[in-house]
Amino acid sequence: MTQEDNKQELQDRLDALNAQITKQGSHVRQLKKDGIADAIGEAVEQLQALKLEAATLQDKLQAGETQFNRKSFDDLILRKMFVIPSFEIHGGVKGLFDLGPPACALKAAMIDMWRKHFVLAENMLEMECTCLTPQVVLKTSGHVDRFTDLMVKDPATGECFRADKLLEDAIDDLIEKNPTMPNAEKEEHLKIQRQADAFSPTELDELLVKYNCKGPSGEAYSPSFPFNLMFQTSIGPEGTAVGYLRPETAQGLFVNFRRLLDLNAGKTPFAAAQIGLGFRNEIAPRSGLLRVREFCMGEIEHFVNPNDKSHPNFASVAGKELVLFGRDDQLGSGKTKTVAIGEAVKSGLVNNETLGYFMARTQLYMEKIGMDPKRLRFRQHLTTEMAHYATDCWDLEIQSSYGWVECVGHADRACYDLEVHSKATKTPMVATEKVDPPVGIEYAKIKFDRKLLGQAFKQDQRIVSGLLDGLAEDWKNFEPIATALDTDGKTTVDGFEITKEMVSWTKSSKKVHEVKFTPSVIEPSFGMGRILYSLLEHSFYTREGDEQRTVMRFNPQVAPQKCAVFPISSNAECNAVVDEIAADLMDSDLATRVDKSSAALGRRYARTDELGVPFAVTVDFETLKDNTVTLRERDSMKQVRLPKSEITPLLMRIVHGKLNWDAVTKKYPLVQVDEGDGVVAESTEKGPTVVETTSRGRFRRPAPQN
Ligand code: AMP
Repeated sequence: MTQEDNKQELQDRLDALNAQITKQGSHVRQLKKDGIADAIGEAVEQLQALKLEAATLQDKLQAGETQFNRKSFDDLILRKMFVIPSFEIHGGVKGLFDLGPPACALKAAMIDMWRKHFVLAENMLEMECTCLTPQVVLKTSGHVDRFTDLMVKDPATGECFRADKLLEDAIDDLIEKNPTMPNAEKEEHLKIQRQADAFSPTELDELLVKYNCKGPSGEAYSPSFPFNLMFQTSIGPEGTAVGYLRPETAQGLFVNFRRLLDLNAGKTPFAAAQIGLGFRNEIAPRSGLLRVREFCMGEIEHFVNPNDKSHPNFASVAGKELVLFGRDDQLGSGKTKTVAIGEAVKSGLVNNETLGYFMARTQLYMEKIGMDPKRLRFRQHLTTEMAHYATDCWDLEIQSSYGWVECVGHADRACYDLEVHSKATKTPMVATEKVDPPVGIEYAKIKFDRKLLGQAFKQDQRIVSGLLDGLAEDWKNFEPIATALDTDGKTTVDGFEITKEMVSWTKSSKKVHEVKFTPSVIEPSFGMGRILYSLLEHSFYTREGDEQRTVMRFNPQVAPQKCAVFPISSNAECNAVVDEIAADLMDSDLATRVDKSSAALGRRYARTDELGVPFAVTVDFETLKDNTVTLRERDSMKQVRLPKSEITPLLMRIVHGKLNWDAVTKKYPLVQVDEGDGVVAESTEKGPTVVETTSRGRFRRPAPQN
């Protein structure tokens, strides 16, 4: 079915629904008139359900959203080797995929733009840390104990499933099977669905029973239990040192915080960034590249004073409008709001400027790489979904044929990460900031009985005194210790038992010129694989009226190859010019595809369309006479004629966003060719033209100017 047919089908369904609405409306009016109160409620609900369905169809139509042709898409992705199942000839492994040549180039371009947009633009400190991580690091971060998903088993087959996904699917099924379900009831189910990954094991078990979820064997599932998603291994030949493949890249940046701060001359705020692989032993890998077991992440850790989360560049994005799905709306209206980020921060919907700044920058990045802005939204985490220490979290979700999927997390993780590593390693992870004028602070002036400390803690005495010194710097931190020593005569600090005799103190105050703090961390975390997959879907379309002609509309900045060059015939002279043009393009780092095959020109254009190559140059017999070539733009299929020497500088400007195709068509004369059968569709948009006949058909081209 073509896009036009799809549209027509949607319109037909909408017309039929509108007719039903009119009929049902008059039925309701009649019931009211006749005073048949019993039946009115049900009739009104049916009317509302019809209206809701019509509104959804209308939205789809307006968004130009037609049915996604999965078969053609999957065929193209596999045939052109964008994504292939890993170890395919051995039967493959669930959740592991290889990227083929066009996807490698696309990913490299996306990452290059990510680096420029975030790392270079903000002077971030980029690192590349190891994937192998010793247990102590991930025990400290909480991953060993808490990086889990709830799993259930089919008791008969032992097959494992992710409990929250079963619940989500059961709700989808229920709604799909009951198209006339009253709106309010539907919204109740959707509300539960939106919270699926925030329920406790007991709550999930109850819901799986409520929604009648059964395993493939037909038996009810086992009670849910946590399953740790990390791949465990051992480091070294003895096999005694437990390690894990990192589940995220962030920990490498946290443990290097002190060095990064030094490198940044002790100044905050600053950000560190890392791009690399993360590994998660997903229970139910599915949905192509969206839930896999090894994937590329891009993470930014922005370290900021917890008492001042303003961002110096916030004004530059304050007017940027984002589609926000706040937690109140998720539990209430179910509708998103389009709000300028400046307003969202001002109203408190988004917790602080730095978080809002990164959300807006993420949106801009997505638009830059060519994602469809209509299919982007930011969803706030429900309070039950957030880690206890987090202040606010917003996921950028991208809509694809799999629904709305989290692709970039934006979390204000407060001081949690630095504090836990600092505590576990007894390494201070603090920053200082000058304050002008000086501020008064309350602290504890403390004195140790070194003899008693030495007897009690031997070689650890310096650690203990260091810990107490650190806490004494701020009376707020020392006060609970002072109170415990006063009332119980002893207390425990980080596992060390301190008695009242070991330390004496007085509460004091002083003026200071700088303050110390453990920085808060604001973390945008990008799933590059998910973004790449979504971009593939957003870029895919079929030519109107010809479903066989599939196209990838990558923008020139990210397109794996920027230009194709073809000879009109296998004539040696033409081939030599093709090589010359291709070499010139490559010399300017413009990835170029040469196709000297004997396939018809239309076929060769179609091949480049499938790879998303935005431009194609054709060397024809005219070239040999006057050194001009045709340049074809992929989406409009329009062609202009220009001197071959102007191709490279022109494409350079386009690829760097300094020129667009519209401007090109204004500068050079259009030469339109029907690619289907080689018959000429004449165009006279620019200047005087003449019709000439070549081996490609008849062309209208500019008349000689002399
Ligand atoms: P998280 O640390 O769970 O917030 O994940 C950070 C980002 O990694 C998410 O926003 C996703 O884009 C991506 N991601 C997480 N899990 C997977 C997975 N199994 N497969 C692909 N991407 C993932």
